[in-house]
Amino acid sequence: MHIVMVGSGYVGLVSGTCFADFGHQVTCVDNDAGKIDLLNAGRMPIYEPGLEALVAENVRHGRLRFSTDLASAVAAADAVFIAVGTPSRRGDGFADLSYVHAAAREIAHALKGFTVVVTKSTVPVGTGDEVERIIRNARPDAEVAVVSNPEFLREGAAIEDFKRPDRIVIGADSERGAAIMAEIYRPLYLNQAPILYTDRRTAELTKYAANAFLATKITFINEIADLCEQVGANVQQVARGIGLDNRIGSKFLHAGPGYGGSCFPKDTLALVKTAQDAGTPVRLVETVVSVNDQRKRAMARKVIVACGGSVREKTIAILGLTFKPNTDDMRDAPSLSIITGLQDGGAKIRAYDPEGMEASRALLSNVTYAGDAYECATGADAVVIVTEWNAFRALDFIRLRAVMTAPVMVDLRNVYKAEDLKRRGFRYTGVGQAHSLSPTPDDEHATV
Ligand code: NAD
Repeated sequence: MHIVMVGSGYVGLVSGTCFADFGHQVTCVDNDAGKIDLLNAGRMPIYEPGLEALVAENVRHGRLRFSTDLASAVAAADAVFIAVGTPSRRGDGFADLSYVHAAAREIAHALKGFTVVVTKSTVPVGTGDEVERIIRNARPDAEVAVVSNPEFLREGAAIEDFKRPDRIVIGADSERGAAIMAEIYRPLYLNQAPILYTDRRTAELTKYAANAFLATKITFINEIADLCEQVGANVQQVARGIGLDNRIGSKFLHAGPGYGGSCFPKDTLALVKTAQDAGTPVRLVETVVSVNDQRKRAMARKVIVACGGSVREKTIAILGLTFKPNTDDMRDAPSLSIITGLQDGGAKIRAYDPEGMEASRALLSNVTYAGDAYECATGADAVVIVTEWNAFRALDFIRLRAVMTAPVMVDLRNVYKAEDLKRRGFRYTGVGQAHSLSPTPDDEHATV
């Protein structure tokens, strides 16, 4: 199969590379010439474990190439995947579909012979209809099937997720389109990955329902964590106690600073807007969105309380900036709200992240970046673990304490055990543990 990925970001580049690894001929297209130049020079525009080697291998075998020339690539394609961004639209939170529509217009003009156009971007229900309308208006003669194939990969484990997915969802309203998709995913079918064939609208909604459900699970355990702090219980043990129940499952039950990243915040908002427009509001998801927003801000107050009620003129060391480990993605990372909240309270911020510092420079100001965790903690009045990178899981506490001004640790990912840190002379605050009270909304000394 000849496949084109339009958009070579986190999803397009990983999916395209994995399709090439299955044996297909793949061209990854992007209108960012700098990105394509980097890729053609063998360098990665994003950090994703294992990606560089897999790209190099498939380029070497002649199955994967990179180009800014969408028209020639599309003309030779059996299937064209749209994998461009769908960020939140300013104002109402609906998905901004301008990149998808622009890609559809460009693709339409270049189509030759029967081609399947696949939306892999996360798009609201009905977007496939609009993509089809755009293509048919521009090219009434085109032989085309428009299919939905939402992507469920996780950054940081993207290759593994793509090659061994829990399921593949294909929304096709024509048999011809479904047949090409079956051929593309045949290597995974042979691996017995479940493939769900459905209609286009159902496929589009399935992706939002999945993300909203996961965001709800995280938000649920975060609220239980707050309750644990007030009533003297331990959220990690509660999570284990409920997660061992197969009906609940143990994943996405780690209490922390609130969900962030490139998907959950924008996808929950877009689902809320879709449902409001359809006259059937999803009130549960509306609440999840607002609880999560408040939580990110509350985390700054938690740090302030741990610092004795004020961070004015204090130096706070932030360990971890990305929304989760093993990515350089800073989109909607909780660190952004936490750092801004602490700066509003008068704190000086030092930060270290193994991969996220370059992207964070464009998003944050007045932050001093360090070369490692110990340099970051030097002279700090508190260390805050915001992202649970492996580099922060086995810190040398003697060394850490020696460089800090005050031995205060706020562990927003519950990486450490309170007893261990206390034994080493730290004042430790975790999440959802009896001793680590979160500030109440009317905690006036801690307001930021
Ligand atoms: P991204 O911003 O990393 O990549 C999008 C790429 O598309 C950019 O490189 C941009 O230059 C390019 N682009 C935009 N318009 C173009 C055009 N007309 N022609 C060629 N290239 C164009 O975004 P992403 O994180 O890869 O997300 C893409 C989609 O996949 C989104 O809808 C997202 O919600 C969804 N998704 C993302 C993830 C994830 O973990 N990042 C997971 C599942 C689904």
